[in-house]
Amino acid sequence: MKPILSLLFFFLFNLINAQQTDYVDFKSCKVLVKLDTVEKSVEGSVRFQFDILKRVDSIYIDAKNMQMTKPVVLIHLPSKTVDTLQYRNDSAKIWVKSDFLKDKTYELILNYKTVPKNALYFVGWGNDAPNQIWTQGQGKYTSNWLPSIDDMNDKLKFQFNIQFDSDYEVVANGKLFLKTNTEEGKTDHVFIMGRPMSSYLAALAIGKYDKYVETSESGIPLEMYYYPGDSLKVEPTYRYTKQMFDFLEQEIGVPYPWQNYKQVPVHDFLYAGMENTSLTIFSDAFVVDSIGFNDRNYVNVNAHELAHQWFGDLVTETSGTHHWLQEGFATYYALLAERHVFGDKYYYWRLYEYAQELFDQDNSGQGTSLLDPKSSSVTFYKRGAWVLHALKELVGEKVFKQAVKNYLMKYQFKNVETANFIDEVEALYGKQLKNFVAEWLEAKTFPYNKAMASLEQSVFIQEYLMTDCEAKTAKCDYYLSAPISAEAKSKIVAQVPERITADVFKDGLKVRQAIAKSVVKIPEELKAEYESLLGDDSYVTQEAALYNLWTNFPEDRSRYLDKMKGVTGFSDKNIRQLWLVLAFVTPNYQEELKQQYFNELISYTSSNYGFEVRQGAFSYLQALDVFNEKALENLYEATKHFNWRFKSFAKDLWGVLSNDSRYQDKANQIKTSH
Ligand SMILES: [Zn+2]
Repeated sequence: MKPILSLLFFFLFNLINAQQTDYVDFKSCKVLVKLDTVEKSVEGSVRFQFDILKRVDSIYIDAKNMQMTKPVVLIHLPSKTVDTLQYRNDSAKIWVKSDFLKDKTYELILNYKTVPKNALYFVGWGNDAPNQIWTQGQGKYTSNWLPSIDDMNDKLKFQFNIQFDSDYEVVANGKLFLKTNTEEGKTDHVFIMGRPMSSYLAALAIGKYDKYVETSESGIPLEMYYYPGDSLKVEPTYRYTKQMFDFLEQEIGVPYPWQNYKQVPVHDFLYAGMENTSLTIFSDAFVVDSIGFNDRNYVNVNAHELAHQWFGDLVTETSGTHHWLQEGFATYYALLAERHVFGDKYYYWRLYEYAQELFDQDNSGQGTSLLDPKSSSVTFYKRGAWVLHALKELVGEKVFKQAVKNYLMKYQFKNVETANFIDEVEALYGKQLKNFVAEWLEAKTFPYNKAMASLEQSVFIQEYLMTDCEAKTAKCDYYLSAPISAEAKSKIVAQVPERITADVFKDGLKVRQAIAKSVVKIPEELKAEYESLLGDDSYVTQEAALYNLWTNFPEDRSRYLDKMKGVTGFSDKNIRQLWLVLAFVTPNYQEELKQQYFNELISYTSSNYGFEVRQGAFSYLQALDVFNEKALENLYEATKHFNWRFKSFAKDLWGVLSNDSRYQDKANQIKTSH
């Protein structure tokens, strides 16, 4: 290859071709990959089929930091004549050069190897955390591990052939078509997607899993994956899955578009969940037991990612300007699914919370138009959901539902913008929606007053708004004993914690949680009632109650610690970690075991645990102000973590400690030895 000449060549193409989708239509992508857990590398071959729409001299495939391991091959169809092509690899794209003729179909074969920096993660292979490999395409670019098309406006039919150790489960988009054992304990898994999708939705997840399978009313297999030790958590984690799936198919009016639906929890995930086509990957922090279900369940994320299978995966935004067509719709339909299982109050309550968040955002000067691609997720998700709630109220349920159905059918497997949806609603409504669009979508400010007027149709919301104790009048005592909603009573408890009586403890889980969180000074006469909070079916309540009781009644500390000794709490070990800290600092409590408790807390800072556990342990060590060498080493390692939120937490804390004269020397030593 002659670099200068070909550079010129490719440069020309660049100038005339702002959008490759005008020239090329990629049809399919057949992938064969092998994953090496020692090198943390991906090696594979990819075979694209594409049609040429306009004659062009070169095309590209997105491929970040990839090494081509064999010559790039072009196959002319239908003749099957084969050419070896010149290519240029600029570390972001592979450019290939040929005389690509209009209306012709070609295949291109790339063989590659890469150690992905992003989008595919090897988790746990060097420590005691569960050994997993999983991907996150959206926001990270699939082309970090798989040569593909980052432009979401080109949809391809994918086929994956993944080779991996036989004792692991391998899951990818589409239907498992074939599973064959190869040499030395490896298994080949072939997954086929029947329908096209954008490359950012391509995904795989590998780990040790068992699965529980149900079938939807329409016959779609619903595969729910779980860690082998977690069989008792399957029911609470995946509660309402089939019910919500059946509901959404009915409500949306368009059958679920893919061959099956799989949900896989993974360790150290970057978000709550990701709606890869037919394969939702979600954070294992949502794997809960039946007590954890009451506080932090997966239901909302479950419904949200499922709704994306239509809104996002079946019809996909053309660009970030129309991001609400994905997130607003997923948030709204998740709310409808939750309304179906939890009832109307829940639905209005969430809308109320969303409206408050949007109101606060506007007041802090952060409000944006819903069509601003730089909007916050509060805007895309929550204002987007509000738009659909308000639109349905305006045009009526019948028009709304039919318009959504028409929109999905018309643009299925294609890309959409806001006008495409609005046009479908206008066509059935018979009137222009110009004013609605200007106010609800385009304006920078969320129409809060209109939203509140809509909510006040709910008696439950009316009652909540009217019940208020900011002024701390005599009415507060009445509210505390009145048969009002748990939300309203919790608000009063938070406003006047000093006035609660023993009777308020009889109000159920939510109000009792409000007591545990708000009543931090416990009156002697309520001690017995307060102690009963330690037995509530809520890890949030138990944690707050343990801390407050321990603080208020020093003479009973040992008794509280003995009672809560075996409790772990959520998967982030919230109660166990608090317990260790309290046991460590309580004078005369199990003196001989104190070092052991301290060591256990230190162990939770290591990469054997999920970042949620680690962040909790680091925070407690900071509060106790006792970092030992091991903890400092683990913290330094955490500053390099791929999860940016955890990484930035660790970096901040590392910054504080390495400026602290007591830790400075050790911190420098660790830094230089790594
Ligand atoms: Zn979403």
